[in-house]
Amino acid sequence: MTTVAMLGVPWDGSSTFSRGAAGAPPLIRQALWSPSSNAWNERGDDLSADGVLIDAGDLVLAGDAADMRAAVEQGVRDLLGQGRRPLILGGDHSITYPILRAWGVRRAQDEALPPAGGPSDRLTVLHLDAHADLYDTFEDDRYTHASPFARVMEERLAGRLIQVGIRTLNAHQRSQASRFGVEVLGADRWREVLPLLGRLRGPVYVSLDLDVLEPALAPGISHPEPGGLTVRDVLEILASIRVPVAGADIVEYNPSLDVRELTARVAAKFVKELVGLLRRSVTG
Ligand code: MN
Ligand code: MN
Repeated sequence: MTTVAMLGVPWDGSSTFSRGAAGAPPLIRQALWSPSSNAWNERGDDLSADGVLIDAGDLVLAGDAADMRAAVEQGVRDLLGQGRRPLILGGDHSITYPILRAWGVRRAQDEALPPAGGPSDRLTVLHLDAHADLYDTFEDDRYTHASPFARVMEERLAGRLIQVGIRTLNAHQRSQASRFGVEVLGADRWREVLPLLGRLRGPVYVSLDLDVLEPALAPGISHPEPGGLTVRDVLEILASIRVPVAGADIVEYNPSLDVRELTARVAAKFVKELVGLLRRSVTG
């Protein structure tokens, strides 16, 4: 089994509405290790046992958004180089683009992997979100949390992008989805991803925006969008993944808007179950 490495990215400088997500990583850790629960997940992993999960701490981010992207890409590349399976705690969703670039660069340098069609073209990205995050540009910025998956698809950092839980598509994002061949399953059709995941060819990367959930279940988010999934729905989706999981992120937790740390606990729950998926994964 592989050791999972948790890395925090305290960044909300690319949020388009409310700031606050930069404060998320320490509060997710606090919920994860809270004595109100224990360190075991539903698969039977003890996250506190040796060799299961290491905490790589938080990136130190002192510069602008371009500096952040460089630091994230390098930070994830370092973890991959150490043979760790990365689990990244946001931060806003803009961080997913540089995270996925880390695979692109690494794969391009790895002669054992086929270069055809783009360095990460075999990676399927499973993106859970209320929003498609496919804007070509938003308020004259191509790198906000509204655009990471447009950049990912332009650079062919994913061979396939499957979005689940989406419920805010406008005409522009519909056209972007069709331009990039994105498979969009709205919140009304989330169950259709279950058989689809069973037929996947690996590896898969999981990007989990907490606003995919019904906002009453996870109030600490910047863009609440009613009509979302339950925590158990998301766990069912994750449990249906049969292929190796190369990495994952949990983004958009905004502690400044949380109620009784409920959203921190939801994020910590997803950490627990994702660790179970990630540590069993041998990517190939
Ligand atoms: Mn998002
Ligand atoms: Mn979202």
